[in-house]
Amino acid sequence: MSPTPSGKPVRHILALSGGKDSSALAVFMKDKVPDMEYVFCDTEKELDETYEYMHRLSQYLGKPIKTLKYKAGYGFDEILKLKRGFLPSQQSRWCTEYLKLIPYEEFIGSDNVISYVGIRADEPYRTGYMSTKPNIKAVFPFIEHNIRKADVFKILEDSGLGVPSYYKWRSRSGCYFCFFQQRIEWVGLLERHPDLFKKAMDYEKTDPLTGERFTWNQNESLEELSRPERIAEIKAQYAQKQAMKPKPSANLSLKDVFADDDMGEQACLMCHL
Ligand code: SF4
Repeated sequence: MSPTPSGKPVRHILALSGGKDSSALAVFMKDKVPDMEYVFCDTEKELDETYEYMHRLSQYLGKPIKTLKYKAGYGFDEILKLKRGFLPSQQSRWCTEYLKLIPYEEFIGSDNVISYVGIRADEPYRTGYMSTKPNIKAVFPFIEHNIRKADVFKILEDSGLGVPSYYKWRSRSGCYFCFFQQRIEWVGLLERHPDLFKKAMDYEKTDPLTGERFTWNQNESLEELSRPERIAEIKAQYAQKQAMKPKPSANLSLKDVFADDDMGEQACLMCHL
């Protein structure tokens, strides 16, 4: 660790989300910062594909990826009870705060830290949700080195890791029930992981007194979304949207085309990079 003028050591930390950008950043930084610490804030609601990919990435890096969690005995389900069943949403992202930000900031404590963030050069708008503690200095190597989406895929392909397998049907990392998912990704979850879709559905409730619905998506429950006619409609809308997109350039792979749905500034950087 390199010392600061005050003599306090500086830690270098790269928080992985299980997504392609933070993973590619870890590969990119591997030999540049030998004392890099890698962490993964585990919500315990991630896809198996994510855990499998983290394992392979750790082997590639030749270092452990430290798993960070909120207090022992307080996972998503316990916090949900404390929140009286109010599911997190884009407006109330308590999941990010409890399961990502707090564990990360507690791990850092008062240490001076350089935090490596995988925002790419082609998404400078993406500011998202990240720590603002004064002892944490965020740096953006991909922006500094003009690394764009196609470069990220190349970094991962050249490393032999490739992208996490969920990119075949989903464009982001994070919890299986993440409310940032597009409708077509919910359909993907239903088709690839019906057990997880059922679990996500079981979180949705209707208050028997007020009739108020607690659902992952506004205006539509997962039970409604999973009806065959609705699935057909979602697939047709998605196909239409894809058909209207500009044709990919020769440099882009199919994975690239599918993953062309980044969420913009609303996203949580710790969940989805
Ligand atoms: S992935 Fe989605 S549901 Fe999970 S902690 Fe992040 S924002 Fe919340």
